[in-house]
Amino acid sequence: MQSLATSPISGTIRDKLLKLGITDASSLILHLPFRYEDETHLYPISDVPADRTVQVEGTIIRSEVMYRPRRQLVCQVEDGTGVLFMRFLNFYGSQIKAYSVGTRVRLLGEARPGFFGVEMVHPKCRILRGNEPLPDALTPIYPSTAGLPSEALRKLISRVLQTGEGGNQEGTLCETLPESIRKRCQLQGFKDSVLFLHQPPPNASPALLRERTHPAWQRIKFDELLAQQLSMRVHYQQRRNGSAPVLIAKNDLTRALLKLLPFDLTQAQKKAFAEISRDLTEPHPMQRLLQGDVGSGKTIVATLAVLQSIENNFQAALMAPTEILAEQHYRKLSTWLAPLLEPRGLRIAWLGGNQKKKERETTLADIAAGNALLAIGTHALFQNQVEFDRLGLVVIDEQHRFGVHQRLALREKGAGAYAMPHQLMMSATPIPRTLSMSYYADLDVSVIDEMPPGRAPVVTKLVADARRDEVTARVREACREGKQAYWVCPLIQESEALQLKTALETHQGLTGTFPELRIGLVHGRLSFQEKSDVMEAFARGEIHLLVATTVIEVGVDVPNASLMVIEHAERMGLAQLHQLRGRIGRGAAGSVCILMYQPPLSPNARERLKIIFENTDGFEIARQDLQLRGPGEFLGARQSGLPMLRFADLERDKDLLDTARTIAVELLRDYPEAAKRHLHRWLGRKSEYLRA
Ligand code: ADP
Ligand code: MG
Repeated sequence: MQSLATSPISGTIRDKLLKLGITDASSLILHLPFRYEDETHLYPISDVPADRTVQVEGTIIRSEVMYRPRRQLVCQVEDGTGVLFMRFLNFYGSQIKAYSVGTRVRLLGEARPGFFGVEMVHPKCRILRGNEPLPDALTPIYPSTAGLPSEALRKLISRVLQTGEGGNQEGTLCETLPESIRKRCQLQGFKDSVLFLHQPPPNASPALLRERTHPAWQRIKFDELLAQQLSMRVHYQQRRNGSAPVLIAKNDLTRALLKLLPFDLTQAQKKAFAEISRDLTEPHPMQRLLQGDVGSGKTIVATLAVLQSIENNFQAALMAPTEILAEQHYRKLSTWLAPLLEPRGLRIAWLGGNQKKKERETTLADIAAGNALLAIGTHALFQNQVEFDRLGLVVIDEQHRFGVHQRLALREKGAGAYAMPHQLMMSATPIPRTLSMSYYADLDVSVIDEMPPGRAPVVTKLVADARRDEVTARVREACREGKQAYWVCPLIQESEALQLKTALETHQGLTGTFPELRIGLVHGRLSFQEKSDVMEAFARGEIHLLVATTVIEVGVDVPNASLMVIEHAERMGLAQLHQLRGRIGRGAAGSVCILMYQPPLSPNARERLKIIFENTDGFEIARQDLQLRGPGEFLGARQSGLPMLRFADLERDKDLLDTARTIAVELLRDYPEAAKRHLHRWLGRKSEYLRA
């Protein structure tokens, strides 16, 4: 804020600028218009085209407040060629005075045939005092905020464009790209581009500006993508420069576990583990994303990585986003690992949200002393009181459910004597190529692109709510055959209390419908022990039908469950539906997912249901989801630590992204100073980590 603080800008304005993300002269000139108004031409009133925004100039020849059909201010404006009406439905007393007969005005608005004749409703109206020349550039309209309208921003920005930061116009508008690169990539100069976009000449093509395909826009979008690539590369490099414990593959515990398993790893699982295993042997922290569709078997791969850490006498931590899932991991890994760890006197520590104080203290002491070589839990794992003795590996399941900050906090746990731990993140939400090239460019990725053998695909059915009876008949039949089913209650975003009420009612209703079935209920308000008891009973087959809220969304693994009913599926997002559906189809029996919906559907909901109905491949679903929602929403607010793109569009500007990727490498290698300037312009303070 240095430069803006020294220029004559008041504190209140500075606060408003901050609200718009403007912190200095650089971010001010990158605050670009989202549209333009053409005030460079005047149309004769007799000749105004209909349904287009145009400008006319004339004298007010009549002005009155009318009361029929409602209170409104109506003026007649005459310019020698004709007369038009301007009409204000909301107006101040001061306007009545200002728009008095004889006043010369310039109007910008849409001319339409109206009740009185050709009219403009609520035009932009400027009173002319003398001979005011027409502007010679299109008028930029900026994203604005209360108390800081577009017009005020325009004045601030044109001042900075003229004088630059602290009078240093060259510095503020400097070219960050070396001439040779700029020419090779056929990019327009930065200064010209910025000036053009803030003050386009009257003959600028409205279409190219609107579509953001004008060379000036191309340059800005390229620069934005380049800044993102640079920052990702720098992160990556910094990680490579950090040090982490070397965890060599002794194949001692890992091989023993593979022998105990009732199945063989798929080729894809073997390959993924080989990549992880190799990373762990390196002296700098791994930062790898293990990506595989729901049910592809990521847990076992993570468990092998955990064992490689334990083999080397380094601790591992496994973190999951929900208590149900963390607990399931705890149970599963306990079963898998007990025969291996117990003979050696090694324990697994459990760290959940609602543990008894005493129990928790013992666990914390175990972790701090290094007696527990594996800690499993929820976000409770990265709270301040948790200290590890020698953390070698952090595994984060369903990483997209955690915030960037939570993830980083766990990494900090390893800082100190034993440097940074390795990090393995897992997610079933696939990352489309454009996103993996941008937001995830600092991660290495392993993909499990193959399902364990013998899985029958899930059949999806869409059923309107009115046909509920057919659905219950189907559930009864399946359970009679010894299958198990989930019944997922509707998501009620506005109120958790209402969601709970619905779940209780659904449970009660279904208990009445199916007196012969054992029906369980699980929701977010249950205590940890209650949740865990229900899930365990379901896993053991003691419950036929599990009524659940979306708490079961991620990770839950009960292979015998082969039917799922989702109520009000139209309210859920695609990722959520795909995750939920992934709870079934885990055994050999053919599985069915029934999506119930309540018509009428909004166009967006209809599109979502169509996508989930037609696709089972999580990658394809994610791609279409990204298209439907755009990257900001797709990544979710939780990932908000990531720099979002304002101008470039990953799908539409794929080519620019490709170029930016190549140039980022070249710039960092051959022109580090230019890279630094570029990052500084786009990220400001956030780029300070880039010390030459
Ligand atoms: P996700 O990738 O969704 O986390 P899980 O790790 O929960 O999937 O695995 C899903 C199910 O598949 C589990 O019951 C797991 O034990 C089983 N599984 C994993 N790998 C294999 C394999 N190679 N062959 C057979 N079953 C497997
Ligand atoms: Mg999982």
